[in-house]
Parts: sequence; structure tokens; C-alpha cells
Amino acid sequence: MPHTRNSVIEVAIPLPLDRTFHYAVPGQLRDSVMQGVRVFVPFGRRKLTGYVLGPASAPAGELKEIIAVLDAEPLFTPRELAFYRWIASYYLQPLGEVIKTALPAGINIESSGKAAEDGAGQDPGEMLKGGRGIRRERFYRATDLAATAAGLRGTGARIILCLLEQGEASRSRLGELFPNPSAPLKRLAEQGLISVEEREVYRDPFRDEPSVPSPARILNQAQAAAFARIAEAVTSRDFAPFLLHGVTGSGKTEVYLHAIAHALELGRSALVLTPEIALTPQLVTRFRGRFTCGIAVLHSGLNQGERYDEWRRIRRGEAAIVIGARSAIFAPLENLGIIVVDEEHEASYKQSEGVTYNARDLALVRGKMERAAVVLGSATPLVTTFHAARTGRIRCLGLPERVRGLPLPEARIVDARRLKETAFSPELASALTENLENGGQSLLLLNRRGFATFLVCRDCGHVFRCPNCSVTLTYHRSRQRHFCHYCDYSLPAPSVCPACHGPGIVLLGKGTERVEEEVRALLPAARVARMDSDTTSGRGGCARILKRLEEGRLDILIGTQMIAKGHDYPGVTLVGVVSADTTLNLPDFRSAERTFQLVSQVMGRAGRGDTPGRVMIQGMDPDHYALAMAASHDYDGFYRLETGFREEAGYPPFSHLALLGLSGTAERTVEQGARDAARLLREIRTRLGARVEILGPAPAPLAKLRGRFRWQILLKSGSRAELKRLLLAFRDQWSPPRVVRTAIDIDPVDTL
Ligand code: ADP
Ligand code: ZN
Repeated sequence: MPHTRNSVIEVAIPLPLDRTFHYAVPGQLRDSVMQGVRVFVPFGRRKLTGYVLGPASAPAGELKEIIAVLDAEPLFTPRELAFYRWIASYYLQPLGEVIKTALPAGINIESSGKAAEDGAGQDPGEMLKGGRGIRRERFYRATDLAATAAGLRGTGARIILCLLEQGEASRSRLGELFPNPSAPLKRLAEQGLISVEEREVYRDPFRDEPSVPSPARILNQAQAAAFARIAEAVTSRDFAPFLLHGVTGSGKTEVYLHAIAHALELGRSALVLTPEIALTPQLVTRFRGRFTCGIAVLHSGLNQGERYDEWRRIRRGEAAIVIGARSAIFAPLENLGIIVVDEEHEASYKQSEGVTYNARDLALVRGKMERAAVVLGSATPLVTTFHAARTGRIRCLGLPERVRGLPLPEARIVDARRLKETAFSPELASALTENLENGGQSLLLLNRRGFATFLVCRDCGHVFRCPNCSVTLTYHRSRQRHFCHYCDYSLPAPSVCPACHGPGIVLLGKGTERVEEEVRALLPAARVARMDSDTTSGRGGCARILKRLEEGRLDILIGTQMIAKGHDYPGVTLVGVVSADTTLNLPDFRSAERTFQLVSQVMGRAGRGDTPGRVMIQGMDPDHYALAMAASHDYDGFYRLETGFREEAGYPPFSHLALLGLSGTAERTVEQGARDAARLLREIRTRLGARVEILGPAPAPLAKLRGRFRWQILLKSGSRAELKRLLLAFRDQWSPPRVVRTAIDIDPVDTL
């Protein structure tokens, strides 16, 4: 990487600005400035960290000078910069923010995913963490005052610089970097220059795991055929996108492992994306047991220091395989031979806050840039992915049968309309009893946590709602409180109605807590556990529960969509879907697809051992095609019907979408802003003659969230280029009231 040796450089700043900036480089810094390093620069009245993009031609005289060069080595390569530029341009995001997101200091601790708890983006689900065994640590940040603070010296000054650079640092990290930082930290906090926050830190659930050798299996015919085509593509060093469409238990993971081994033999590296690593400890175990090369695991349990360490290990070429959730798409691997996107249909590949991107889509972009094979694997591919495979843009590889000739489970749909008090139909209740008697394990899915999801006063009709969000509160019995699943709001469960002071509060709507109670009452002898974000505090939480399942110390596991993930436990012979309606009734055009995927995936956990599996699906709409097709393992049938509806309504894959969201705390201002934005969009559309459908403005289905009112405008077009032209012009001309936040979401995965 040549030094720029230029007196003027182009710098990207991580702020919501659509442009980059020029700075002059003073003589003494010229040797250390190069593309990919961070620089500390004056910016308005502040000082900030920016990223050097390269030399620029501009008269140096009028420019401000950079203050310092913060890295001795570039943090990103020219190829990575090209990738960042692509993202910035496609998602209409500021380049500086994209770079910040891609680099470790900015990645921070990743939340476990927006779609984590209740399927279709229903629940950020992080607020309820039980107490046991959690390590807490203090994290320090520089405040706004810090950048302008004068007269700092010694350790205090160096700590501030470090915090400004890294955004945040833990107490233990600072202890590694500075001798005796306690006194300076205390002083800085007193001066208001730093802020302190205590948070829980997760232990790495995998580091201590002994690796159990997992020898390569001899591939069956379908696996071998799929492997051969991927291997050929890896060998040819050309970009090659594949859909590995294999039913649950067909041995997709085994195909990934073989393909990756092949890439490693050719001296190339591999990137494996998985929706949520904490939920799929088996995947990591299989990789650790198979390969002797370095494997980096980027998961949400790492704290910032650990993440940075992993990042450096990858950058130094010490890990040939990287496994991680969506942000691992930025892993600084060189010489990539293959990218695997496991469960490619999962909504959690989408990052919806801050810099928005979809890691599944970016896998294809990065694969193309690096001339790598990209394998999208799923039993229930996205309708859009299957369409791309049908129309020849992605090569389709099929694993139509389970390994070892195991049958797919037999499934039955039970009409839940006649269920009154109980969560279980007589059919499901007797299936549970029978399965327990036969020594089989059962999984029960209900994608709603808590005890009761709707609390109403029988006497006056008062409904318990969140004051900050347009949702009802959920009663959590174990904590004796009503919680909002979207914000931090909760209140102690009152014994009388707060409106009429009567005793008539009724608990309606069932959550996993109530199902657990009913199971215990029905089968007192059964060993029962519940897996949802209330019971899996800390990252080891899931692994702990799954271990009990694996070792046969559990008869019945109740859970949210967490239990539907790629688990492979041969003892599971019964799967019950307590209610398929939680995702089916969401006002989003993907709700049928999500339901089909969720039900098919949880069904796929049954019958993976020698005993065939059974499935029972309860729903209020038992004839719904998403349920019927899932029950009959008919992906093609579902695809045909679903694409029919999509084509009629002009949704993807028959159009491209963008969602313009406006939010603010003043309802009328947001509404007015949304109307103005829609008018401006329509004006620009006329001027440009762009073929874009503009729907709205309308209040978002979740009309209020965390105290902010939300309106949205949906844009649809057959042409990505015209959609983008319209949005670019809009972005240039749009000046919303200061109190209204505008966000453009390209290819939204949920429109709630
Ligand atoms: P999927 O990812 O499609 O759900 P997995 O790769 O997890 O399927 O495979 C399911 C189970 O079958 C695993 O326990 C795996 O070890 C086993 N398996 C995979 N391929 C073979 C094979 N060719 N022969 C025997 N067992 C296999
Ligand atoms: Zn709320």
C-alpha cells in the first residue's frame, strides 16, 4: 500500500453526511498518512476520527490540517474500501458510517437481532434478563465535552484520546492499556469528560468447549453432486452463486464442511454466516471438531476487546475460517474462496438500525468482488431467492431427502378455534402424553413470551397499554410485572384495575410462561424447560438448555422461535406448534412466508433419529395455505401460490421496495413531515418521469414506538435504477423539520 505522500487527502467522517471531506496534511505527518488509516481531524468546533480514502487534488491553502494519524497500518484494503463504497451507494448510507460499522471499534456489542424473539421483527426482546451468573463490567465513553477539553495531561489525556478513537472501552481493557487508570478515570468522570455505564458481559461460550472430533462423513449421492458443483466453482476462482435447497436434516451442513475443506486445500479462506450463533452451538462444535486451522467465531457474546482481538487475528491471517452473525460479512479475510449463508431465509441477516444492510445480500456482492463461491443454504429459501434460482441468476442445488433415508415427520393441522381455556387440543395433549410414555422428547413452539399478552378489566374494559408504544403490555408471572416488549416500560402487576378499582382484571392471550404452566399441570412427571429470551440470560443460556436436551435430561422443551433453529437432536420425536397465528396475522406482506418458514423449520426438528417424528400444528385458520403447505412439506406448492399473490400485488420478486420512515415525538409534526415528504417524492417522480409507485404516507402499523410516532411511505418499482434516482433526488432536496427523523430503508424486510 503506497503512502499517499500528498499534501491533501480525502477523508470519510462517520456522521450522517452524504459527502466526504478534504484535509491538508502537515509535513511531519506526510510519511504516516496512507489509505485506510484513521486520522484525528478538526470538524466544525469538534474533533473527530475520520478514515483516509486516498489523495485528493485540491488547493491545500484553504484547508484545515489533520491533527494526528491514529494507525500505523491501514485498517482496510482497497478491495474492502470498494466493498464499503458499494454499500454506501446501494443503501444510501454515508461512507464514513459504513466504514465505522465495518471496523471493529464501531461494531460494538451487537444486539441479538431485531427479529430475535417473535418472528417477523416483533420484538427486540433483550430487556428481560434473569440474574444468575452474569458478569458485569463498567464501560467508559468520552462525552461531547471531551473533544474540546483543554489542558489535559498525562494518563487522563491518553485515556480521552483512546476513548475518542475507540468510542468505548471497558474497565478491564483500560487496565490493560494504562497503568493504574482508576484515579484518572475518577477525575475525568468528575469533570464530566467521560460517562460510565455498567453492563453485563458474556463469557465466550465456545472458548472453553473441548473440541470433539467430528470426522467427515461419506456424502450421499445428492450431497456429492452438490459438493462437486461447488468445488468446481471454487477451483475455477470465479464468482458462483448457489442455492443449496435441502429439506431439514438432508445434510446441508455436511456439504458446507466438505466445500470449505476443499477451499482450504486450495489455500483459500472461508466465511460462514449464521443467523444467531448462540442458538446454534452445534454448528460451531462441528467446525471445531472438523478443522485444525484457525477458526474465528464472531458472536454477540464477545465484548469489544475480544471482538477486536478476533478481528486482528483474522486480519493477520491466523484464521482461515470465520463463523459469525451478520456483521461477520465485514470480516477482513483475504483470498476468500467460499461464503456460506446458512438459513439464508432468516430475517436477522438484516441490520435495521444505524447503517442498514442485509448480510445475505452482501454475501453475493462480496463473493462477486472476491470471485468466490457463495452458497445460500435453506430448507425454506426466501421466495425471492427461489425465484432467482428459477430464472437462472442463482444455480440451484437440491437435497430432496433426509440423510440415511430418514422420513420427514408426519404433520397434522388441528383447528384451534374450539379451544377455550386451555392451550392444548385433546389431540396435542394426548400426543404429548403418549410421547412422554414412549420416552420421546417433545418441542412446543409458541412465538410469544410471557404469561398473558392482553390484560383487560372485565368490569370497565380498561386495557393495559404501553404509554410509549402502540402495543398492549404482557404479564410476566415469574416477575409479577407487566412488560412492554418494545421499550423498557413495565409496571408491577396491580391486583385491582387502575381505572375502576374493581377486581376484574382478566389475563388473555397465552405466552410461553403460561404454556409451561399448563404442561406442568398436564404432565407433572415430565422434565420441562422453557427457552425464550427470559430464560436464556447470558450467551451460555441457550447452550445450557440445549445441552440438557441433547443429553436426554429433558422431556419437553417449550420455546419461542429460538427452538426452531437448526438443532439436530435425535431424541425429539414430537413437535407441537401451540399457535401458528402469532406470525400469520402480522400486517406485513411476508407474514405467510414467515409462518411457512417458521412452521417448516420447527417441524424439521422432529424425527432426526431412528424413531420417526410427528408434528401437530394448532391454528385459528387451519386451511391457510402457509400451514397446509408446511404440513405437507410442499415448498414448491407454497412457492407457486405465494408468487402468484406477490405478482398480483406487485411485491418482490416482482418489484423492488424502499421504505421511507419518519418519526418524532410530536405527532402532528411527524404527520405533516410525512405528507410533505410524499408530496416532494411525487413532484420529483413527475419531473424525472420515474416509474415508481408511491404508497402513503400512512401511520406505520406500529404507530408509536419508544415514545416516537411513526409514519411511512412505501416505494415500489420494477427498476432499481429509477427507484434510486428518485431517492437520490429526494435526499438532496428534502429538509425535514429538525425534530423529525427520516430513514431510508432499501429492501426492507419488515414494514411494521
Ligand atoms: P441439515 O443442515 O440439512 O439440517 P445436517 O448437516 O445437520 O442437516 O445433517 C443432519 C444429520 O445427519 C447430522 O447429524 C449429520 O452428522 C448427519 N449426516 C449428514 N450427512 C451425512 C451422511 N452423508 N451420512 C450420514 N450422516 C450424515
Ligand atoms: Zn413500550
